Amino acid sequence: MIQVKNYLEDFLHLFFPHNCIGCGTDILNNEDALCAHCLTQLPETGFLTKPDNPVEKIFYGRLPIQHAGSAFYFNKDSLLQHLIIQLKYRANQTAGMYLGKILGNLIRDANRFDDIDIIVPLPLNEKKLFTRGYNQASLLAKGVAEVLQKPVIENAVERIQFTETQTHKNRITRWQTMEGVFKVVNESLLKNKHILLVDDIVTTGATLESCSKAVLEAENTQVSICTLAYTI
Ligand SMILES: [Zn+2]
Repeated sequence: MIQVKNYLEDFLHLFFPHNCIGCGTDILNNEDALCAHCLTQLPETGFLTKPDNPVEKIFYGRLPIQHAGSAFYFNKDSLLQHLIIQLKYRANQTAGMYLGKILGNLIRDANRFDDIDIIVPLPLNEKKLFTRGYNQASLLAKGVAEVLQKPVIENAVERIQFTETQTHKNRITRWQTMEGVFKVVNESLLKNKHILLVDDIVTTGATLESCSKAVLEAENTQVSICTLAYTI
C-alpha cells in the first residue's frame, strides 16, 4: 500500500511539481513548503518562551501587553527575507499558511499563550488589500489558528488611514504617522476576549502598538502579540 502511495506521489509530482520555496529542491514532504535543510537555516529567537524578551520590552511603559514574541531573527539577504517577500509580494498563499503553522507550533510549545481566545491579523487598509489581493498577516494567522485551534477574527478591526510606505521614514515619524490608524468596528467580537495580534514582522512596534491600543479600548480585552520575524 505504501508503495502504491509512493508511485502515486511520483506520478502527481510530474504534473504538479512540488518544490521547496527556499532552495527549490524537490526533496520534501508533500505537505511542507520548506525542505528539512532550509528549516534548520531559520534563526530562531527563542523569544516566544521568554518573558521580558526584546519584543515585550518594545511595549514597556506604553501599553499593557500580556505576552509578546517573534519566532525568527530577520536579516537582510537571508532565507527568511526571501520567504517574507514570497509572502508579501508574490501572492504565495501556500508559503503564508505554512509559515503561519511554523509560528503556531512555536507559540503552542511556548505555553505562554495558552489562554488566548481569538486571533486577529493586523489589518491592511483597503487600498493595499485591493492592490495586493490579500493580507499577508491573515495568511499567517490562519496557519497559527490551525495549530492553536482558535478562531481568526478579521472583521472586528479596520485600518482607516492610508499611510505611504514607511521604509524610508525615521523612527519618530513612524510612531507619529501610526496614531489613530486602527479602529474597532465590531466591539462585540472582541469584548471579554484575550486577543492574539499576528503580523509578519516587528521593527519599531509602532503599527502593532497603534492596533493594540484600539483593541484595548474594547470592553474588557487583553492583548498578546506574535510575529514571524523580528528586526531592530
Ligand atoms: Zn530548501
